[in-house]
Amino acid sequence: MTTKKYVYAFTEGDGKNKKLLGGKGANLCEMTQIGLNVPPGFVITTETCLTYLDNPQRILPPEVINEVKQHIQALEQTTKKGFGNPDNPLLVSVRSGSAISMPGMMDTILNLGLNSQTLQGLIKQTDNERFGYDAYRRFIQLFGKVALGVADEHFDKHLDAIKRRAAVKDDVSLSARDLKEVCALFLQVVQEKTGRPFPEDVFEQLEIAIKAVFNSWLGKRAIDYRRQFNITPEQANGTAVNVVAMVFGNMGNDSATGVGFTRNPGTGENQMYGEYLVNAQGEDVVAGIRTPKPVQDMANEMPALYAQLVELSHKLESHYHEVQDYEYTIEKGVLYCLQTRNGKMNATALVRTSVEMEKEGLISKEQALLRVNPEHLEQLLHPRLDPDSTTHAVAQGIPASPGAAVGKCVFDADQAELLGKSGEKIILVREETKPEDIHGFFAAQGILTSRGGKTSHAAVVARSMGKACVAGAENIHVDSKLRQAIIGDNVIQEGDIITIDGSTGKVYLGAIPTIPPKFSQELKILLGWADEIARLKVMANADTPEAANKAVEYGAMGIGLCRTERMFNAADRLPIVVEMILAQTPQERKTALDQLLPIQRADFTEIFKVLAPHPVTVRLLDPPMHEFLPTERELLDEIAHLRELYAISKGVEHLASASRFMRDREGGALKTIPAPFDSINANLVSDAISKKEQMLRKARELHEVNPMLGHRGVRLGITYPEIYAMQIRAIFEAIAVCQKDKVAVNVEIMVPQVATAQELTHVKKLIDGIRTQVEAEQNVTLQFKFGTMIEVVRACMRAGSLAELAEFFSFGTNDLTQATFSFSREDAENKFLPDYTNLGVLQDNPFEVLDVKGVGQLMAMTVERGRKTRPNMKIGICGEQGGHPESIRFCHYVGLDYVSCSAPRVPIARLAAAQAKLLEQKYQIEW
Ligand code: PEP
Ligand code: MG
Repeated sequence: MTTKKYVYAFTEGDGKNKKLLGGKGANLCEMTQIGLNVPPGFVITTETCLTYLDNPQRILPPEVINEVKQHIQALEQTTKKGFGNPDNPLLVSVRSGSAISMPGMMDTILNLGLNSQTLQGLIKQTDNERFGYDAYRRFIQLFGKVALGVADEHFDKHLDAIKRRAAVKDDVSLSARDLKEVCALFLQVVQEKTGRPFPEDVFEQLEIAIKAVFNSWLGKRAIDYRRQFNITPEQANGTAVNVVAMVFGNMGNDSATGVGFTRNPGTGENQMYGEYLVNAQGEDVVAGIRTPKPVQDMANEMPALYAQLVELSHKLESHYHEVQDYEYTIEKGVLYCLQTRNGKMNATALVRTSVEMEKEGLISKEQALLRVNPEHLEQLLHPRLDPDSTTHAVAQGIPASPGAAVGKCVFDADQAELLGKSGEKIILVREETKPEDIHGFFAAQGILTSRGGKTSHAAVVARSMGKACVAGAENIHVDSKLRQAIIGDNVIQEGDIITIDGSTGKVYLGAIPTIPPKFSQELKILLGWADEIARLKVMANADTPEAANKAVEYGAMGIGLCRTERMFNAADRLPIVVEMILAQTPQERKTALDQLLPIQRADFTEIFKVLAPHPVTVRLLDPPMHEFLPTERELLDEIAHLRELYAISKGVEHLASASRFMRDREGGALKTIPAPFDSINANLVSDAISKKEQMLRKARELHEVNPMLGHRGVRLGITYPEIYAMQIRAIFEAIAVCQKDKVAVNVEIMVPQVATAQELTHVKKLIDGIRTQVEAEQNVTLQFKFGTMIEVVRACMRAGSLAELAEFFSFGTNDLTQATFSFSREDAENKFLPDYTNLGVLQDNPFEVLDVKGVGQLMAMTVERGRKTRPNMKIGICGEQGGHPESIRFCHYVGLDYVSCSAPRVPIARLAAAQAKLLEQKYQIEW
């Protein structure tokens, strides 16, 4: 039978076993074993902690005490000092340390082993009375607080009084006599507060200290920290206790203590970074009692030690192959390393150090890629709020498109465009946005809505443009007519400045300072490596030539989704689209479409050329037509205003109401009001009224109870074939132009909302007819691929049959998620989904993170069935989840060829795609 081992000397513990020895203990063992100068010591395991905490009496088992005593004996031999020896005392620190670092959350005690007798030994040994009393008073206070529960304030009041009496500011300025008096007062404090004298027996001190550190694992601070950072028992269970021979940084001016990083954790620069204090103990650096100096000062102040520190820094990095965050003490000119751990860095530093450490041969490209969390790249791609600013948010919405934006509130797109053009920075604030607001998006720094979620119009468009967006901030009441927004007691008028943070969903009054983004050279290099390793291609969702250019800038390998309806929304096009919708006959519709044809052709030609030779997937019109018309409410309001205006123009209205309109106009509130009323042309107003009434009739006619499940996508293409015919012709003519210009275009035509193979056959026939015509007219042979979105559950079930015609599939996981859960993509995110995720009913918002177990299973089935029919079927995803790292891992696992996401997420997706490949062996799903 093997007996359990509770304690490991630093010379024997396994430096890789952080679970058993805690991170600090394991590293102390490892550093000792690779020959770094670590003070001798031992680790009591995390298992011992659990055994202790499991016992209701909270006693340390005798075996543990025996082992601890044996290790103390060994320490005595190594240090040639005696624990409790009044002539030559051994002092130790007792430090916590669990498998996952929880800085400052658990307790540590220094200078343990001091009592009234050993104190005299220490003074004799060091020939320094002041040092002895200083160490003693620190120990009494720390032990008193951590192990005996006496609050700091009881000690501090005495220390402060003595400092005042001695007229000094710093502890270091107190004399030996002052400190002796402090010690006496501190001992009294312990007696008074605990009812017992301070323990003189050093083994009793040690036992109490070990128990106190173990207990701190269940302290409130530590529990809250574990909850906050989701630290599970599998990751870290219990704390180890490290008992380490004390070394002193407060033994005079050849002694010091400091903390440092092997490289700068803010910039990544390969230069030692940190601070130190001469003649001080570690807690002085952390507590901020004295102001430490930058480590570079040490080069002048203690050049030989600085050289040793540089050497230590190099040794640590070359051993751990990672930036280290370490603590050290210099005792009478000898440097000791007390602790090391992997350094936490911001994204800039992580990216830079990854690339530089690879170049220095410290890590491989694969390791460099795995060091960076793809989500952290977001910090480098968008402006963000200055983390030092302390202002409180006034509203919370859904973080719909990342980045921070500051600007004047504007409540409609026309005004946004006007002010934007004049150089103003603005935030477009709407209840919700509509396609006709698109010009406002172009002009705005950011978009704020009080309704809608992550896949709402505002969110999707903002993301595609890389603009900040907070959506669905439901405690904001937006009144576009009064041009104001009300948030609690605050009334925000047009022109007031606000700040939105699309990464957190927070809204602030006034201007908060922001930090601009940086697409560094190192990031480009890192992403280049990612592209070499990844199997998945990363495409962008981009709908305009501007967005296509942006996609290329971010490194997209093609456009995976070009939503053609977005091309209809520009101010010069929407009226033609409205004409097309209002058309009474196919001929009238064709007249409007004939005007749209050259516009679409020009857009396609430009996009194809920007992306050549990479693929561009053009999706035929998808949204229901009513989305291009104002809402019924808006139309009714406009008609009412026009009628009043008509009455004025006829001279029937009283002068009072006329002057009201004049005021409105001067205030810029009613853009529908034309020239001064005495020059209003009644006929023009009357025409405008009939137009609006016609639109109202149409809007009512097109109204659907469930528009998302309604007359949209391929259903529209089949019932109004002229629309698809125009788009297909525009695509073909654009291909012909490119071919004639010798540009190697690579075009794919995609049909949305397909549920049956017959729908695809129908559209394919239309395409073939137009293809024959254009080939004859242009004397070219057109090359393109034909495919379908998979966003309807039936399409998944019938994938085998769809694959007979479709040469590629693209998962529209926005709609497919809606269909799978029966959750409205427009409403769920600001109604019940937050509760679902808070209560743990759902782990994630499925519109953001792919629901692998449900939607993912449908995808896996579709891939299998599709490729059974067409083995080399190209398959990708273009829903919003296509830019989410965890979802990308699944897409890799399930065998997709590409992911397509908004342009600013492309860098994140490129890194995630490489990581998916590197970690593929570890990926598992249980369906
Ligand atoms: C989808 O449904 O996932 C998709 C990409 O299409 P849209 O968001 O335009 O409906
Ligand atoms: Mg869709």
